[in-house]
Amino acid sequence: MPQPKPKQPIVIAIDGTSASGKSTNSKLVAKALGFVHVDTGAMYRTLAWYCLEHKIDAHNPKAVAAACRRWKTMLKCSEHHAYLTVDGYYPEKEIRTAEVSAAVPHVAAVPKVRDWMKKTQRDCIKFGSLVMEGRDIGTNVFPETDFKYFLDAQLEERSRRREAEGVQENLAARDMRDSQRAAAPLMIALGAKVINNSHMTSEQTSGTILADIRNRLNERKARA
Ligand code: C5P
Repeated sequence: MPQPKPKQPIVIAIDGTSASGKSTNSKLVAKALGFVHVDTGAMYRTLAWYCLEHKIDAHNPKAVAAACRRWKTMLKCSEHHAYLTVDGYYPEKEIRTAEVSAAVPHVAAVPKVRDWMKKTQRDCIKFGSLVMEGRDIGTNVFPETDFKYFLDAQLEERSRRREAEGVQENLAARDMRDSQRAAAPLMIALGAKVINNSHMTSEQTSGTILADIRNRLNERKARA
């Protein structure tokens, strides 16, 4: 049952490795709480797709930063889901291709891109309370939130999940790039609750997160 609307918007930060169940569980948590779901990976993917469409070399940080300065985007929210459109178009399917997955960690490593994304992602608070999934939400985008979760699973299990979606990808290579970049690398935020869901269903994972959120909200209420 959705929580009563909090007076101040709340941000639930769900970070983690590739294919660790962030999207499925973030959506389940957002639905249960009646919060807006924000997939920040989709935002980086949208820029990577834009670069590919406009023949901009994803390995050229200057060219990528210039593209990020001039692309015409809008931040939209519909049906409790926030996303970016480019030139009025939401490339929902196009951003899931193998080409975009290969380009995205390069685009995401550009500091100017990360600055732009952080500002845009923080702007999402205008839509209300959020469940925001990504790599640096608890460490960089909303470090002030008390609600931080980090999902992980064994590499074999994560690869199996991607294959079940029909996607063949070197997840370890992408995680390595995301963890080793200088700007806002993938890491566990201080105070984050780490959940290894290799042997858990999404109901169990989202249930664990929801139980923790509700406990913390009750503790807050008791202290107030
Ligand atoms: O979550 P998803 O796999 O769609 O993310 C795609 C890529 O976007 C990641 O591998 C990472 O390079 C980048 N990303 C990021 N920071 C975020 C979200 C995604 O660097 N907050």
